[in-house]
Amino acid sequence: MIIGHKRQWNFLKSAIEGNHLPQAFLFEGEENLGKKKVAFEFIKTIFCENIEEAPCQNCQSCLLIEKNNHPDFIFIAPQKREIKIDQIRELQNKLSLRPTLSKTKAIVINDAHCLNIQAQNCFLKTLEEPKSQTIFILISSLPNILLGTIQSRCESLKFYPLAKEDIEQITASQEILHYSLGKPGKAISFLKNQNSFNDFQNSLKIAKEFLTKDLLSKFLFIKEFFPKDKEDSKNEESSLLLESMIWHLRKALWIRVEGDVNKNALLKTKKAIELTEEAKMLLQTTNVSPRLLLENLILNF
Ligand SMILES: [Zn+2]
Repeated sequence: MIIGHKRQWNFLKSAIEGNHLPQAFLFEGEENLGKKKVAFEFIKTIFCENIEEAPCQNCQSCLLIEKNNHPDFIFIAPQKREIKIDQIRELQNKLSLRPTLSKTKAIVINDAHCLNIQAQNCFLKTLEEPKSQTIFILISSLPNILLGTIQSRCESLKFYPLAKEDIEQITASQEILHYSLGKPGKAISFLKNQNSFNDFQNSLKIAKEFLTKDLLSKFLFIKEFFPKDKEDSKNEESSLLLESMIWHLRKALWIRVEGDVNKNALLKTKKAIELTEEAKMLLQTTNVSPRLLLENLILNF
């Protein structure tokens, strides 16, 4: 079952029903909104053997896709923070064969912004000359990192945080509702893992303190946050800190949008979110020093 995203789902259903599927979609939106879930349900609907009830969740195709075991469905995700050219070459080999169970092939590339530049160029050729009837879904929270030539060959579908009522279908916990900020994936992971929920709440407190400091105090904080001998071992904590900063900034943005609109403050917060998201992405996909990254970030705020 898909929670929320009704407009996006109706759009995808009508594309199937009207038989006007584009060759490639780009599902854009923040992490943990359920984009991958929608992609899987969409492909089930295309492949489902019970057209009237698609996706029926019970036929061979639906069950195989759910287990990511369907011979005509290829799921690609980063390996060690990167999608490499070998993964795309392997995909091209698979695409040169005929579909086995279905008439089409479906490819989902999760975190497509992790395609490195060689892999992007190689993938572009696949998009330019499809070998068989194939549908691609690229999923990304940072679509602008992709080559313009890839973006322009995809039909963009944007995803947004869900309404409170939607998240209430997952949990009645007001605390989780508050902290998940409309992200079903977050609500589910908080429910499943109390420790990660506690860690996130602690990190939010630190991030709030950090954000309210002046520049000099921020630098002193960073100095303490990274003891000399442990500078490179704080990737996870730094990533959580950045995520918590984004949480506060988004919250501030909501308050600003709903309250008195001060255009400058609004733009400043939006810019700070963009910069922090970019920093988080760099931390996740490169070997950059987390300390340098944070120092650089606060200088640009
Ligand atoms: Zn089915």
